[in-house]
Amino acid sequence: MDGFEIRTSNSKKGKGLFATKKYDQGDVILEEDPLVSCQFSWNAAYRYLACDHCMRPLETPERNVRRLSCKPDIILPYSDCYETNIECMSMCDHCGTQYCSEVCRQRAYGTYHRLLCHDTSDAQHPIVVLVEAWKQMHYPPETTSIMLLVRILAYITQSPDPSAAAGKVKQFCHRTVNEDAELVHKLLGEQFTDQLNTLRELTINVISGEHIQQFLTPEGFCTLMALVGTNGQGIGTSPLAMWVNAVQELTMSDDERQQLDLFIDKLYQYVEEESGTFLNTEGSGLFQLQSACNHSCAPNAESTFPYGNHRVQLKALKPILPGDEICISYLDECALQRSRHSRQKELAQNYLFVCWCERCSLQSSQPDCTSEEDMSDEEIDADD
Ligand SMILES: [Zn+2]
Ligand SMILES: [Zn+2]
Ligand SMILES: [Zn+2]
Repeated sequence: MDGFEIRTSNSKKGKGLFATKKYDQGDVILEEDPLVSCQFSWNAAYRYLACDHCMRPLETPERNVRRLSCKPDIILPYSDCYETNIECMSMCDHCGTQYCSEVCRQRAYGTYHRLLCHDTSDAQHPIVVLVEAWKQMHYPPETTSIMLLVRILAYITQSPDPSAAAGKVKQFCHRTVNEDAELVHKLLGEQFTDQLNTLRELTINVISGEHIQQFLTPEGFCTLMALVGTNGQGIGTSPLAMWVNAVQELTMSDDERQQLDLFIDKLYQYVEEESGTFLNTEGSGLFQLQSACNHSCAPNAESTFPYGNHRVQLKALKPILPGDEICISYLDECALQRSRHSRQKELAQNYLFVCWCERCSLQSSQPDCTSEEDMSDEEIDADD
């Protein structure tokens, strides 16, 4: 590790990521591939075609924008400036699952797919039954997926050293409740007890074995669900966005630039009319280093996916000094703009902690809005 270390921050927060050197704004702090990742179930059902291993979209930018806008005649200029490399695609010989490359196919098969390979058209297959049950319980917007959990179990079972692999998984924070703050994860509340039992039974039909037995007991299953819920980092990829980024790099006259910018605005307008904000291939993954990053409502770093696949890049948003804790925001941009009360509510439900970042501390005099609860979700901070 270079430039950062993982160590205990304080008794409340547990581990954190700390800088051991200076970073300027825009500097890359780290890059890593996830231990496992998976596209969300509804996202896949809506035919956001992507590599089943790395989530790289398997659509050209032009096909992507045509599908999302329902305008089959759109022609993208400079279409060669972002290569989708569709000709490198590969397929599982047994089930036809698609990958962006032979490398991804082999990695998937070697890590988890050998155990999970199945006939996807067989509605009675335990995996198909499990995914359907999950989809009926979790409608979009999706935040996690049962298949991420199943892939973790397959990863452990398929590993040449299953106990070491199980140990690696258990290093992720996996508490199901925060007793101090009396918080229970939103996927695990009492109202979900029946759902969780159903999912656990359906999961056991898919995969079981000596080394994963500990995760298939009622308690173990809750732990694994909490692990996936609190550590799963959202991953979003879009061929259209990759193309837009690529054309920004091209040299052209001011006039051409202006024309192109207008064209791009129009494209996004068409897409929004048809598909709303449902634009990206979406999923989540478990990242060993990045998951050590704690949350702040005034983050000094952000996670991005610059390669259009599941490889994450952690980048400095402002100068970071040696000894500083490196923090990202677990909330999306919109939620981050809201009042302290709204932010804390979302963090408590999803990540089981009470935020005491600098910004929350400064705003601790803000009321907890009991009477204005409904309004508070719309409320924008006055301090930004
Ligand atoms: Zn791939
Ligand atoms: Zn297969
Ligand atoms: Zn905060």
